[in-house]
Amino acid sequence: MVTVYERADRIGGLLQYGIPNMKLSKEAVQRRVDKMTAEGVKFVTSANVGQNVDPKELVNSFDAVLLACGATKPRDLPLPGRELKGVHFAMDFLTSNTKQSVHGDLLNGSFISAEGKDVIVIGGGDTGTDCIATSLRHGCRSLVNFELLPKPPVDRAPDNPWPEWPRIFRVDYGHEEAEAKFGRDPREYQLLTKEFLADEHGKLRGVKTVHVEWTKDERGAWKMAEVAGSEKDWPAQLILLAMGFLGPESYLAESLGMKLDPRSNFEAKHGNFTTSIPGVFAAGDCRRGQSLVVWAINEGRGAARAIDTYLMGSSALPAPGQTMGTALSV
Ligand SMILES: Cc1cc2nc3c(=O)[nH]c(=O)nc-3n(C[C@H](O)[C@H](O)[C@H](O)COP(=O)(O)OP(=O)(O)OC[C@H]3O[C@@H](n4cnc5c(N)ncnc54)[C@H](O)[C@@H]3O)c2cc1C
Repeated sequence: MVTVYERADRIGGLLQYGIPNMKLSKEAVQRRVDKMTAEGVKFVTSANVGQNVDPKELVNSFDAVLLACGATKPRDLPLPGRELKGVHFAMDFLTSNTKQSVHGDLLNGSFISAEGKDVIVIGGGDTGTDCIATSLRHGCRSLVNFELLPKPPVDRAPDNPWPEWPRIFRVDYGHEEAEAKFGRDPREYQLLTKEFLADEHGKLRGVKTVHVEWTKDERGAWKMAEVAGSEKDWPAQLILLAMGFLGPESYLAESLGMKLDPRSNFEAKHGNFTTSIPGVFAAGDCRRGQSLVVWAINEGRGAARAIDTYLMGSSALPAPGQTMGTALSV
């Protein structure tokens, strides 16, 4: 018997309340959840382990516990004006957007809307792109996406040979849509954010940036320097921080007294997925840091096999990348 405890009101993690509907339909997520329910998995929602569910009690009452809590701690930008209303973490914006479309007006005042606003998204990646595409669907007035690094080359640079991941210029769906609406790619490169700006009534009116140059020092390490006189004020009534994630939130690990790795993820090896606490396993973004759905699937399958082996002494479940029928013994 498997029981899943989820702090949100719906099952699915970021696939439910992070990745927006236009990229992943919530019906597809629910279909999977329904299949698992039919197979006998029990789902308990609004169950925040470490807050309203005691993690020690779970460890004592279940034969094995798998932590799959994601890496949801966002990187902040603690600059002057950060407290202004209208500066939000990307995930607060995206989650409120999906909740609004799933629950209708149930959210009342907590929905963050980009309608009619000048929107600035700070940071790229999948999260930044989803903020761009969502703001467009809300009907924003203008849209700019700040990137700290230089614009990547169209082809691989000499210091980025195969088989490394190609660090090249890519156009995602949000960039294409913004270009179709406003006539230009929304990305502005080599911009360092300095301050969030308020008007005379204390309302967010924009953000100040400075242009930066990147050079290599004598040891080949990249160095960033501000360009004197390049300060610029950008108008904005909504600013979304999409600068990546700093690993899982700490309260669950703290209440269990569990070890973290140097990047503050739950310490567990890929393969056996065991944490520093006997019978407690970790997999997915909370173990490897914010990553991709394919990795979450790979880790979930690997952890299932590791737990089966822990409970039964061997497992007929396939290891990730293996076909059915290869048994693992301890
Ligand atoms: C905006 C955004 C867009 C993305 N787009 C893509 C994409 O296009 N393609 C792609 O491959 N990947 C994408 N990703 C990454 C992908 O969504 C994640 O790598 C993947 O969902 C990780 O799965 P997970 O199960 O490890 O964690 P999550 O999906 O984060 O699920 C963790 C779940 O645990 C719950 N939880 C956390 N703590 C507790 C607790 N204490 N008690 C109870 N429940 C708890 C959370 O509420 C959440 O539901 C995106 C990520 C983001 C943020």
